Amino acid sequence: MYKPGDVRVEEREDPKLVEPTDAIIRLTATCICGSDLWPYRGAEPVDHQVMGHEYIGVVQEIGSAVRTIKAGDFVVGSFWASDNTCGICTAGYQAYCVHRVLMGTIGTQSELARIPLADGTLVATPGPPDADLVPSLMAASDVLGTGWFAAVAAEAGPGKTVAVVGDGAVGLLGVLSARQMGAERIIAMSRHEARQTLAREFGATDIVAERGDEGVARIMELTNGVGADSVLECVGTQESMMQAIRSTRPGGSIGYVGVPHGVELKREELFFEHVHLHGGPAPVRAFLPTLIGLVLERKINAGKVFDLRLSMNQVAEGYRAMDERRAIKTLLRP
Ligand SMILES: [Zn+2]
Repeated sequence: MYKPGDVRVEEREDPKLVEPTDAIIRLTATCICGSDLWPYRGAEPVDHQVMGHEYIGVVQEIGSAVRTIKAGDFVVGSFWASDNTCGICTAGYQAYCVHRVLMGTIGTQSELARIPLADGTLVATPGPPDADLVPSLMAASDVLGTGWFAAVAAEAGPGKTVAVVGDGAVGLLGVLSARQMGAERIIAMSRHEARQTLAREFGATDIVAERGDEGVARIMELTNGVGADSVLECVGTQESMMQAIRSTRPGGSIGYVGVPHGVELKREELFFEHVHLHGGPAPVRAFLPTLIGLVLERKINAGKVFDLRLSMNQVAEGYRAMDERRAIKTLLRP
């Protein structure tokens, strides 16, 4: 990304093994993240930045210290490379690994990528997956894992009423995740017809088109004035965060995964709302084995969020379509 609104494809040198724990993968697919739109829209600084942090592909080469991954393996990884052995990783928060490397600094909107800490970062599938499962495995790399974490953090589960704020790919997959976790009622907040349809397909039982205070009022109506047990906040704005907090019943839980931009929470208000808040960058690596299993067993079709599929040289159109909300999420074929 040269500057906001300006994404180009260019030839770069092939990545090489740097550390003995590295692997080089040839990407089968990559994609554009909702968070890539922040710099694209000028909301975050950007200057000739390599882009992309989602990836699946085939291992080409491994460093001398790599033990569990081998050349030829089909692998899925997440947006933080992690050793999966330190005290933070073993506690299930691989996004904060003491050795973590942010994959966005490497850039995976590419044909090849260097993956640090390959043993900890990559999860191999039992064999090459069927071609039609590629989009769902791709989703596991970030959006599905992030939606899943939002549902875990919001303590979605059997008997629960869950509300989802945000109808982007993460919010929609938050709906799917809450459904997998056995939630009784799932209220998707969305104004867009195509996204409402997908939300229902993923397991939403109710749709609320209103936003802000009106949206909160609708949630209260639907829950007899109680509020939702679990709320997934998948946007990251002041409005969406307050909508989430006010939609939650006292004692309920919010899982917030929208990267915050200009959000300020007032302590007095938080005190009297009496809700659990848990969120941040999702430790996707913790969920990869479960998510890959669900995809391979064809229990979930998370790849449906990719409503635009392009070749790498059309990447600029992929960004434009997501920026203009013509596409929910773009899958790129290198
Ligand atoms: Zn670690």
